[in-house]
Amino acid sequence: MRFVTAYWARTRGLITLATAVSRMTDIDAEIIDGNAVASEIRDDLTDAIETLADAGARPGLATVLMGDDPASETYVNMKQRDCEEVGIESYHVDVDGDAPPERLYDEIAALNEDDDVHGYIVQAPVPDHVDYREVIRRVDPAKDVDGFHPENVGRLVAGDARFRPCTPHGVQKLLEAAGVETEGADVTIVGRSDIVGKPLANLLIQKADDGNATVTVCHSRTEDLAEKTRSADVVVAAAGAPELVDGSMIGEGAVVIDVGVNRVDADTEKGYELVGDVEFESAAEKASAITPVPGGVGPMTRAMLLYNTVKAASLQEGVDVELP
Ligand code: NAP
Repeated sequence: MRFVTAYWARTRGLITLATAVSRMTDIDAEIIDGNAVASEIRDDLTDAIETLADAGARPGLATVLMGDDPASETYVNMKQRDCEEVGIESYHVDVDGDAPPERLYDEIAALNEDDDVHGYIVQAPVPDHVDYREVIRRVDPAKDVDGFHPENVGRLVAGDARFRPCTPHGVQKLLEAAGVETEGADVTIVGRSDIVGKPLANLLIQKADDGNATVTVCHSRTEDLAEKTRSADVVVAAAGAPELVDGSMIGEGAVVIDVGVNRVDADTEKGYELVGDVEFESAAEKASAITPVPGGVGPMTRAMLLYNTVKAASLQEGVDVELP
């Protein structure tokens, strides 16, 4: 018989919810609260940011937005607000959506040279006439707090990550906070994107305390997806397909992490609602622990961007700080 322990231990005594869950017992799932875990990470980062500021090296994060996609504008605003909250300087660069790629490249070159900016992100998607891969290649790898530059991808695969991409890193932190042992666990990831599925798989197979998992990566050509998710101890859904994974695809007592954020038409004021890639109700009946949407992975992605910015500042300024 195998046991999964869903174990919440807020080290600062904020919340202590400890639940030992048998795979063989039919019980309600613990909700893994991404807002609470992200808040704790932000608190810990505040100490590191003060240490850097005291050394004359306040961390700085810039956001670059090309075009006027409303969702991207919202994301950028949230990132700036997050910076303010923890004491990171934030900068913003707007580039006209119709401008030639060179306009964006010039801004990137300027940010690479700007000593006040320790990290920056170019908000995706960029307009169709701009090659996002070329954009990423132009970012100074030392300031690539998204962790998308080929040099940083290579380092991650080699087990020497400089910056872990924010969403996969957030997933790892959620699993850790929920007391989920990845060592020896069978993890099925649905999705193989460069920003979620692939880097998460690479992180979870590392010989490391938060790795050592056996990982199956699924995608749109995978045969019998349900069989692969049902046999997993941990299912991570990152497909961008609303409620793709339902309870029938989850094994008893598995841990479910829902990365998906999908807008679906709904009878609400905005005319839509956000749903994940997991059908929450039915999956929660089977899972021992599960993340909600919203309030699961989303806040963690934002917190880990702050984390990478602090790390970038620490490395560039040569000031040691303790990272959570
Ligand atoms: P993406 O680039 O579109 O990749 C989706 C992946 O899922 C692809 O590998 C695709 O397979 C696979 N897939 C799609 N439909 C599938 C199906 N029916 N069965 C099996 N595999 C399927 O998406 P992404 O950027 O990784 O994002 C995934 C989701 O996470 C989206 O909802 C996005 O909004 C969300 N997201 C959330 C956060 C957060 O902070 N919460 C961060 C990033 C992304 P192929 O490769 O074969 O096409």
